[in-house]
Amino acid sequence: MITIALSKGRIFEETLPLLAAAGIVPSESPEASRKLIIGTNRPDVQLIIVRASDVPTYVQHGAADLGVAGKDVLIEHGGDGLYQPVDLNIAKCRMMVATRVGFDYATAVQRGARLRVATKYVQTARLHFAAKGVHCDLIKLYGSMELAPLVGLADVIVDLVSTGNTLTANHLVAVEEIMTISSRLVVNEAAMKLKHATLQPIVEAFRQAAGG
Ligand code: AMP
Repeated sequence: MITIALSKGRIFEETLPLLAAAGIVPSESPEASRKLIIGTNRPDVQLIIVRASDVPTYVQHGAADLGVAGKDVLIEHGGDGLYQPVDLNIAKCRMMVATRVGFDYATAVQRGARLRVATKYVQTARLHFAAKGVHCDLIKLYGSMELAPLVGLADVIVDLVSTGNTLTANHLVAVEEIMTISSRLVVNEAAMKLKHATLQPIVEAFRQAAGG
């Protein structure tokens, strides 16, 4: 059995054409069925539906052979035990630093001010500000980061930005791009060796469907 870990929503929807290219069609939608294990047209392939940030963990421990995870999630996880053969170019967005409208980020950085940074992406934020030589206090949040600068919890946030609508709606502005983000195919390193004959064609189909 080959098990593929996916998260609901954008990653699931944008992975469907890649699965189809590998001849894999889910037998139902996770949104409709609420099932966490979903069969496919192939008796030897099943999907498991997990939180986006849990995909690398399932694949690392071999509970799934393959998975699709955002670069943001992979950086936070660390990538141990994972082979990352293909950038799928899906679920694209940007990791940004954002502040309240009116907060003078450039001057604060220039003056060497200590910044309070609220984020779910502490690893990414730590590396980014360390590389800039900016001292910061990291405040770990699990969601609704946009609120933090509005209520005085933080000076800046580090978050994913897609359309920018969420920032605008909360009177925030993006002041710096940290990196562009897309989702990658991840493979359990041991499975890639032990189940090579079955996994390799799936990896290749994903690679070709993703455009290289
Ligand atoms: P937007 O308003 O389109 O800029 O979207 C921003 C909100 O969606 C923020 O709360 C982000 O954390 C979240 N978001 C945007 N893109 C992604 C993505 N590719 N994966 C997960 N969350 C995202």
